[in-house]
Amino acid sequence: MAIATTNPATGQTVEEFESLTSEQLEEKLQRAWDTFESYRDTTFEQRAGWLRAAADIFDAETDRLAELATLEMGKTFTAAKAEIAKCALGCRWYADHAAEDLADVEWPKPKNAPENARIFTRYQPLGPVLAIMPWNFPFWQVLRFAAPALMAGNVGLLKHASNVPQVAMAIEDVLNRAGFPEGAFQTLLVGSSVIEGIIDDPRVRAVTLTGSEPAGREVGARAGQNVKTSVLELGGSDPFIVMPSVEDLDAVVDAAVSSRMLNNGQSCINAKRFIVHQDIADDFTQKLVAKMESLTIGDPMDENTDLGPMSQGNGVTDLDEQVQDSIKAGARLLTGGERIDKPGNWYPPTVLTDIPKESRAYSEELFGPVALVFRATDADDAIRIANDSDFGLGGSAWTSDEDEKMRFATEVESGMVYINKITESTPEVPFGGAKNSGYGRELASFGPQSFVNAKTIWIQ
Ligand code: NDP
Repeated sequence: MAIATTNPATGQTVEEFESLTSEQLEEKLQRAWDTFESYRDTTFEQRAGWLRAAADIFDAETDRLAELATLEMGKTFTAAKAEIAKCALGCRWYADHAAEDLADVEWPKPKNAPENARIFTRYQPLGPVLAIMPWNFPFWQVLRFAAPALMAGNVGLLKHASNVPQVAMAIEDVLNRAGFPEGAFQTLLVGSSVIEGIIDDPRVRAVTLTGSEPAGREVGARAGQNVKTSVLELGGSDPFIVMPSVEDLDAVVDAAVSSRMLNNGQSCINAKRFIVHQDIADDFTQKLVAKMESLTIGDPMDENTDLGPMSQGNGVTDLDEQVQDSIKAGARLLTGGERIDKPGNWYPPTVLTDIPKESRAYSEELFGPVALVFRATDADDAIRIANDSDFGLGGSAWTSDEDEKMRFATEVESGMVYINKITESTPEVPFGGAKNSGYGRELASFGPQSFVNAKTIWIQ
C-alpha cells in the first residue's frame, strides 16, 4: 500500500511519501539503540517533564493536529479535537503515575533468607519497542503506547498505517519539541513488507500491534519465533445487551447509536451486536432505526456532521460486500445498505436484523456504520449469543437488575465489560481483549509494566 495522504471525504490524493531506503532504516534502528543506551539512565522526573511539555503542545496546537487527522482518515473535526485532548490527558496521567506503577516491589523473605536479605522486583526497560499502529485513532493509539513506554525508559519506533503518514510525523515532531532526546521516538515510513525484518533485528526488543486479526497473527508469530514480548490489540464485535428492566429505553438507544457510530463506525470497541430481550426488541429496533436515519452525513470539518466518510475506499467495498452477502444469506435490511454515490468513501447508517448464523455478519467484524440486531429470549440466551463469537474485546449490558449486572459482568467472555455504560479507552482504566481480540493490556498500571524486565533481585 502506498504511503500517502488521501482525503477520504473527496477521494483526492493530497501528498505521497517515499518509504525509507534500507540504509535510512538501518540508520534509524541504530539511532534507537544508541539513544536507548543513555535514555535508560534518565530519571522519572526528566521523562515526566518531557511528557508534560508534550501535553502542553497537544493543548496549544489542538486545531492544527486535529485537522491532520480529519484530512488523513476522515473522522469529524470535533472527534479529532477530543482525541488530541485525550493525548494530552494520557501524557499528564503517565507523567504523574508511572513512577508509582514502576516502583520496586518488596517480597516477603523465605525461611532460608538471612536477616539482612532484601528481595524485590525492579522494573527495567527492554529497549527499542516497535509499535505497529492503525489509522482509526491515529494520535491516541500511538500515545497510549508511547507515554507509558517512554516513562518506563524504553524508546519507540512507530510503523504507522500507510494512510496517516503526516500524523505519524507530527507525533515524532511533538515529542522531539517537548524535549525527548532525538531518537527516543522515531517514525519509520515503511510498508508492512519490511516489518518481519524489523522484528527479527536484535536491537528491537518488543513489539505491539493494534490492528486487524490477520496482521496480529503474523506479527505475534514473528515475535514468538524471536522470543520477544508482544502485545496485540485486535478487532472486536462487541455485544450490547439490553434487558427489559432498563429505566429509560430512549437513553439506551442514544447510547447504542453513539457507541456504534463512534469514529464513523470504525472503532474496535464500537458496540456492533445489539442483543435485545424479545419483550422490548421491537420497540428498541424501531427507535434505533429512527435514530440512525436522523444522523447528518457530511463534511467531517462541519461541526453539525454526525457521520463523516469511512477512512479507506477498500473499507467501504469490504463493508458493503459483508452487508450484501449477509442479506443474500437471509438477513433483513431495515435501513441503509446502499453505497452513497459520490466521490470519497461514503456509507450510510445501516441496520440489519434476523441475522442467520451462517452469514458473514454473524461471525465477522463489521468495521463501519452498520448495526446488527439480535433477539434474546432471556439473560441466558443473551449471554449465549454474546459469547458465540471468536472475538472478545469489550461489551456492555444495560439492566437495572442487580443479579443480571453481575452475571453479564462475569459471564460475557471479553477483556472488558461495562454495565449501563459504553466501553471506552481512557488512561486510568485498563484496556485489552480476550479470545481472538488479542492479548496483553494497555493503560492504567499495565501500560508502563508491559515492556519491562520485571527483574527479581536478592541482596544479602
Ligand atoms: P491492519 O491490521 O491492516 O493495519 C493496522 C496496522 O498494521 C497498519 O500499520 C498496517 O500497515 C499494519 N499491518 C497490516 N498488515 C501487516 C502485516 N502483515 N505485518 C505487519 N504489519 C501489518 O488494520 P486495518 O487498517 O484493517 O484496521 C482496522 C482493524 O484494526 C479492525 O479489525 C479493528 O478492529 C482493528 N483495530 C483494533 C483496535 C484495538 O485497540 N483493539 C483499535 C483499532 C483498530 P499498513 O497500513 O502499511 O498496511
